[in-house]
Amino acid sequence: MAAVCEKNSTLAKKIEKDMIYCISKTMEISACHNLKLSYESKCSRLHGHNWEVTVYCAATELNADGMVIDFKHVKELIHGRLDHGNLNELLPFNPTAENIAAWIVREVKPCYKALVKESYGNVAMATDDTFPIDQRYLI
Ligand SMILES: [Zn+2]
Repeated sequence: MAAVCEKNSTLAKKIEKDMIYCISKTMEISACHNLKLSYESKCSRLHGHNWEVTVYCAATELNADGMVIDFKHVKELIHGRLDHGNLNELLPFNPTAENIAAWIVREVKPCYKALVKESYGNVAMATDDTFPIDQRYLI
């Protein structure tokens, strides 16, 4: 019996040690931008979108509060800074959906992927391929 308990205890430790936690947070950001492009496009004129942004985070250990990161903090970092703003004034780069997705991955720790839906059918994604957790195990 003791051997079984010891074996189960070892197994429990191993499972706990190897745990991977993932969260995603989706939010809508209403904002405007105009794009600096090398070709003629109506996107060069100031216009608005209701972007749907999904931020993916993961960790192998939870923080002291038992979370990867509080959903509220993810919202504050992205929605809180961009919503109802002019992205050309708020961000130090040409605010394409791809660049916005990459910025989100850099801004939110521990974010490994961001999806930015600019409009129906138009989605950009950026991933951190140096993220220390194998992305095959993530959502
Ligand atoms: Zn646009």
